[in-house]
Amino acid sequence: MEEKSSILVVEDERIIRNMICTALTNNGYQVYSTGSGLNACALITSQRPDLVILDIGLPDIDGFEIIRQVRSWSHLPIVIVSARTHERDKIEALDMGADDYLTKPFGTGELLARVRTALRHARNQREGSGSDAVQIFRAGGLMIDFSRHIVTVDGNEVHLTQNEYKIVSLLAQNSGRVLTYELILKELRGAKSKCDTQTLRVNMANIRRKIERNPARPTYLFTEVGIGYRMIEGE
Ligand code: CA
Repeated sequence: MEEKSSILVVEDERIIRNMICTALTNNGYQVYSTGSGLNACALITSQRPDLVILDIGLPDIDGFEIIRQVRSWSHLPIVIVSARTHERDKIEALDMGADDYLTKPFGTGELLARVRTALRHARNQREGSGSDAVQIFRAGGLMIDFSRHIVTVDGNEVHLTQNEYKIVSLLAQNSGRVLTYELILKELRGAKSKCDTQTLRVNMANIRRKIERNPARPTYLFTEVGIGYRMIEGE
């Protein structure tokens, strides 16, 4: 039996906070909560939660400040909560080191999926060698063999260019998580590259044509509009 993970919920809207706390408690997590950013910082230091769910707009110090403080000393997974109208906030938070985001309003299923994924990645990072230690990724008919650099769909090998393979394997190693355009481009070309999301879009269109049955309605590689891409969670 897995040890109960502890989660700190930081959200000043009481109804949303209660909804999140109830869903997490009902699913076996140990939950702390607060509506204050300053309290959140104190709780993170004293309780050492396994994950933080963090609202960006808080009455005292905002979520960005909390991410900045936490990231100066910890890799603690952070899932931010943000309104649909604040797309820029999500990108900024992800680029500052948040792990994922939830857009209000969200359902319990989505909340639990994000939490599970972020906890799993944190666990893999602790146990593995910095990245997920899996050698083979599988989701539906898609299979990626990282040691042999082979991608198959429904048993048929798919021929990807070097860049396309890099993008697919990066997303698969982070399956279930959103990766921003900036992060993907940085991984592709080294930190000094200038952002060229157009090239990335072209690469992605080619990848979809090769791995998706219907590229217009992808089942493996999803677009997070304005933010980046997310690979379906592996099996
Ligand atoms: Ca708020």
